[in-house]
Amino acid sequence: FLKEIATSGRTRDIIRKHGFKFKKSLGQNFLINAEVLDRIIDAAGLDETRGALEIGPGIGSLTERLAKAAGKVAAVEIDRRLIPILQDVMSPYANVSIVHSDILKTDLLQLWKEQFSDYAGVSVVANLPYYVTTPIIMKLLEERLPLENIVVMVQKEVAERMAAKPGGKDYGSLSIAVQYYCEPELVCIVPGKAFIPAPNVESAVIKLKRRTEPAVSVPDEAKYFRVVQTSFAQRRKTIVNNLSAFSGKERKGELSELLVQCGIQPERRAETLSLQEFATVCDALTKAGM
Ligand code: SAM
Repeated sequence: FLKEIATSGRTRDIIRKHGFKFKKSLGQNFLINAEVLDRIIDAAGLDETRGALEIGPGIGSLTERLAKAAGKVAAVEIDRRLIPILQDVMSPYANVSIVHSDILKTDLLQLWKEQFSDYAGVSVVANLPYYVTTPIIMKLLEERLPLENIVVMVQKEVAERMAAKPGGKDYGSLSIAVQYYCEPELVCIVPGKAFIPAPNVESAVIKLKRRTEPAVSVPDEAKYFRVVQTSFAQRRKTIVNNLSAFSGKERKGELSELLVQCGIQPERRAETLSLQEFATVCDALTKAGM
């Protein structure tokens, strides 16, 4: 009888047996806390009719839980050295596919077709490598995959930025991108000692529930996100100053007036604008040919 992988004893045994050496550059911190896994699995809302895409399975602590909770698991791991280890520890589970790939270079629509065509819904469930959290999340959001939930462990500060409401220092373009597509919900805070090796930052599990429709309706999404990015280009600058990069200096007066017409004082900073206010501004800019 084997203990579950997410225990320090079993994790150390697997690492020793395979002579595995952690690579810090790949964000390798393996979860060894069963209660945290309970919270992740609960939040993911899986059952045998649903699939789970795991990003960065490591030595399989979360993969093992997903195998028991979901109908199908596809786990994408970049580190070649982990593939034979995963194949070994996952051999009792017939519903797990191990894919050796960099998630950022993976054709996800293709992966969906290959792995999940028989499943009612698919969620991403992962303890993410922290050095690429934002690019991974952006890829998942922008590729318009038929996703139900994204339940991920990230650095605590990143979780706070994803869930932030207007008005504080945490609110920025990541908050807006996430909230445009999803409803964020903080699941729990996780201390460093829940991992081997322990990272020196706190972590958090966040659930991003995919909205059926985006939070605000905009005719041109790419432009909307360009307006958001430009507005936050220099956080301490006013909205009119940041957006003048957009309108051109010559039309700054006009821009100022346009903002007032949108009900937005030009001296406000981007961090105080709601998703809807950005949509209103974006629309007005387009109508003014900016
Ligand atoms: N899921 C395991 C756990 O909870 O114990 C490991 C989590 S560890 C924080 C992150 C994992 O992501 C590592 O196994 C690392 O090798 C893998 N990884 C890093 N960059 C990746 C990438 N671009 N694509 C896929 N996997 C990646």
